[in-house]
Amino acid sequence: MLTLAEAQAAIAERIVAAGKTETVPLRAAAGRYTAAELRAAVDNPAFDNSAMDGYALCTPDLVTNSFVLPQAGEARCGDAPGRLASNTCQRIFTGAPLPAGADTVEIQENVRLEPGCVVFPRTVQPGQNIRRQGEDFKRDDALYGPGRRLTVYDLALLSAAGVAAIPVYARPRALVVATGDELVAPGTPLQPGQIYESNRLVTLLQLEALGVETVDGGVVRDDAGALRDMLKSAADYDFVITSGGASVGDHDLVKQVFARIGEINFWKVKIKPGKPVAFGRVGERGHFFALPGNPVSSLVTFKLFVEPALAAWHHARYRLVELPALADNDFRRHAGRMEFLRARLGLRDGRLHATALHGQGSHMLGPLRQTNGFIRLAEDSTGFTAGDTVAAIPLGLGGEGWD
Ligand code: AMP
Ligand code: MG
Repeated sequence: MLTLAEAQAAIAERIVAAGKTETVPLRAAAGRYTAAELRAAVDNPAFDNSAMDGYALCTPDLVTNSFVLPQAGEARCGDAPGRLASNTCQRIFTGAPLPAGADTVEIQENVRLEPGCVVFPRTVQPGQNIRRQGEDFKRDDALYGPGRRLTVYDLALLSAAGVAAIPVYARPRALVVATGDELVAPGTPLQPGQIYESNRLVTLLQLEALGVETVDGGVVRDDAGALRDMLKSAADYDFVITSGGASVGDHDLVKQVFARIGEINFWKVKIKPGKPVAFGRVGERGHFFALPGNPVSSLVTFKLFVEPALAAWHHARYRLVELPALADNDFRRHAGRMEFLRARLGLRDGRLHATALHGQGSHMLGPLRQTNGFIRLAEDSTGFTAGDTVAAIPLGLGGEGWD
């Protein structure tokens, strides 16, 4: 059986990364992945300008005029840069171009106004309150490399840099299928032996949050023919993600059926929950994940395998952030597999704390109400005692864009 690291490496090796690209406007680029280097179209700032509301002047003129200068003109935002007549000052506003001939700006709070004149303090220094052309970035600077998932902050920068059209990778397409004779969607009454299913919904939603175009394959019965029918289009997708039917039971047929249309690279990883997880490839560019049926196993394996695979597909880096936390309770177990405990993380006295939630069964959804992270136990760990330092994985931290 592979360890987590081995399984993740096996996936990384077999990813057929995104090829198709498209160009989208800024407004549609949030969450998309750059497919080329993006360069600034302009300097930022585009011209020397004032950082404050005040008066632009030339410092040598001050001394000659005993720190009193007549005001001649005004520099407003959107004006073409004017010129400062010597031995005068100009009213200037934040963001307005610094007039040629001026070497500083004094803020309005520091001056005294007299009819037609401005009295400056003796503390005026050349170069103050000026934003210099290109001090932020310069035209043609490489702002982003390929494989960068653009945040709204990135779009602020690209907008200021005059980049209107962004080359991005075309969204991957994923088929999501739940398998199991017992599964029904909430909304219909349960017949004996049936349960409401949740994996398909959560998998679809998680994929969509990561920018994937999803196709809901519905629930498929534990029947080789039905599974074959559903999976026969597998090679048309970048990702096919099933849940359930990947274990060792007589009716766990997903793997066998898939093995006939594609190639299984591994099945079973030494983790808890989520041991019966399989990964394979189909066709030229298809990736296949058979996630376990238990809802918590499905969530954990999505995080550990599907998320990094999607990042790699987009030529991006991925990191699961793990932080040391103080355990708030005891947890005992048998060593053997790396384990991910659902946990409640919080801050106390400036330290990260973690509580292993009660009810760790992989079928138990109740603790999800408190879950905002995981505690990771190493293979050989037999648990921990309150006060021990444990490895905590806060949800919502890490992923892409972390070093
Ligand atoms: P399996 O992996 O098919 O052996 O399923 C393991 C457990 O997970 C069984 O108790 C199933 O009823 C349950 N299960 C399977 N698929 C789902 C699903 N989509 N939603 C909720 N529970 C599921
Ligand atoms: Mg099943």
